Amino acid sequence: MVEHLQRYGVISSMKVAEVMETIDRALFVPDGASAYADSPMAIGYNATISAPHMHATCLQLLEQNLQPGMHALDVGSGTGYLTACFAIMVGPQGRAVGVEHIPELVASSIKNIEKSAAAPLLKEGSLSVHAGDGRQGWPECAPYDAIHVGAAAPEIPQALLDQLKPGGRMVIPVGNMFQDLKVVDKNMDGSISIRSETSVRYVPLTSRDAQLRGY
Ligand code: SAH
Repeated sequence: MVEHLQRYGVISSMKVAEVMETIDRALFVPDGASAYADSPMAIGYNATISAPHMHATCLQLLEQNLQPGMHALDVGSGTGYLTACFAIMVGPQGRAVGVEHIPELVASSIKNIEKSAAAPLLKEGSLSVHAGDGRQGWPECAPYDAIHVGAAAPEIPQALLDQLKPGGRMVIPVGNMFQDLKVVDKNMDGSISIRSETSVRYVPLTSRDAQLRGY
């Protein structure tokens, strides 16, 4: 899977190739699913695990903000796959936090991570996953060098902007029917620069009730 993404130019970073080889996607998809196919997959509760090329794209956009010792937040952490990748990249001196509003997914993501190469980091406490509304971020471990949002927001939540460190970067899909993956940089003076990376299709960042109703 990683070689395929490298061959087609999706992965250019060695670090990202390495982390995606270290965290085995097969441990994070439903049993029997074709783990290495480049497509999103249903994981229940009207949620999906993102396609490998989207995981790779987001890891590459955030790579400079996932250096050892840095703090990373994964909003809508779903299966926990990217949270685990973040934890490997920031290492035991760093902090990787996942926030997911479906408690059953939080529980299954923790089980997935326990089977993965990120298990020691979960045990030591540099990696954690919490049940909560990710639109509020996770203030306890703020400010963050990197914030990833795995569901599309109608607009960028203020709490997430507030929890971004100066010099920090957030990658977030924004929109309803039509969505853009936005790269949001907080400059050292606190001002914000935003650019669109590509068009995407994510499930919405919404309330738990709306999601369980089918939006
Ligand atoms: N990156 C994850 C993506 C999961 S899909 C993965 O690849 O596994 C998006 C996730 O966002 C879903 O699990 C959904 O339950 C969650 N979500 C949607 N709105 C949310 C909110 N307000 N707070 C927290 N999680 C949310």
